[in-house]
Amino acid sequence: MQATIVLLGGDGIGPEVVAEGKRVLEAVGERFGHRFSFVDELIGGAALDVHGAPLSDGTLAACKQSDAVLLGAVGGPKWDTLPGHMRPEKGLLALRKGLGLWANLRPVKVHPMLTDRSPLRPERLANVDLVFVRELTGGVYFGEKKRDQTERGARAFDALTYEEYEIERVVRLAFRLAAARRSKVTSVDKANVLESSRLWREVAERVAKENPGVSLEHQLVDSCAMKLLTHAASFDVVVTENMFGDILTDEGAALVGSLGMMPSASLGDGKTGLYEPIHGSAPDIAGKGIANPLGTILSVAMLLRHSLGLEAEAAAVEAAVDATVRAGVLTGDLAGGAPKSTVEVGAYVVKSVLSAKEG
Ligand code: NAD
Repeated sequence: MQATIVLLGGDGIGPEVVAEGKRVLEAVGERFGHRFSFVDELIGGAALDVHGAPLSDGTLAACKQSDAVLLGAVGGPKWDTLPGHMRPEKGLLALRKGLGLWANLRPVKVHPMLTDRSPLRPERLANVDLVFVRELTGGVYFGEKKRDQTERGARAFDALTYEEYEIERVVRLAFRLAAARRSKVTSVDKANVLESSRLWREVAERVAKENPGVSLEHQLVDSCAMKLLTHAASFDVVVTENMFGDILTDEGAALVGSLGMMPSASLGDGKTGLYEPIHGSAPDIAGKGIANPLGTILSVAMLLRHSLGLEAEAAAVEAAVDATVRAGVLTGDLAGGAPKSTVEVGAYVVKSVLSAKEG
């Protein structure tokens, strides 16, 4: 197949880890006979320095025309004092909006060799393999905001609204993902107190009826937060609204304990998805060649699976990352003894992909 992929290195360690993601894509192309072409563009602080805006019209247009976007990270101390609309993270928000991305996927999987990184006991981490599906463009973060005065002082409002179609499309996506996994969806809400959550439940029930092969359970968000610590292995696909998802996915990341290993995908109606590691630009280690590229490389696996429909290729990249961790080829954030460089870790993954068996 042929595909065009936009590379947005961004700031700090972003370009270093995206370079390794690109090398892995090239290896997949070589091993499986695909033609990937790459378009390098700027985002975040790097784009501010050159274009005076964190996402230029030209970059957004290139992303819209592409099959997928691989992003590193944005931000850093150099741009911290700029006014709100000039902040690097505005570039990321504008990109999500411009591509119409309404779902964020974050897998949570603990590698058996890395359980000592987690704050949880190893027995609590056995078989943890779940994916969060967070609604990304609705809910309280995007509702009407207001302040007024009462006789007792200031009062603030944040409206939490969801329309049926916004719930339906993200729940449908969760069911589609679950059908290709362990066929279980957990829908997380606060239906005992929130009307928007009661609508969320009704819609989830309706979608479940159309998908008899996938089971649906409802869970209140407070109970889900606890169960993530006590029985995380019981979850398969967890779908939830924007703010609950924001909080629970960070809890999920803490559970894994290795920020540098965690990928994400943002999907919408269009064909173009956005793939990025969940970590930031890590200015403290930028330019040293020691950043962990595995979160970006696992994001490449998600890109192959969700935007290009290349399941065997995605699995080959995941297997190559697994082999790399098992061989102890790790950067300083994970290595006990002699740490490897970003490029050395990337090279090991590339070597493993090139020797992968097809199918
Ligand atoms: P961070 O994720 O950049 O770093 C937190 C800690 O984890 C640091 O000690 C860093 O060295 C380490 N770390 C992160 N990724 C690593 C990797 N791949 N390999 C090895 N170590 C890694 O979070 P922060 O320090 O809070 O933020 C730094 C900058 O990144 C800020 O400007 C922030 O706004 C931005 N940020 C961007 C994104 C994004 O682009 N999606 C996300 C979070 C933070």
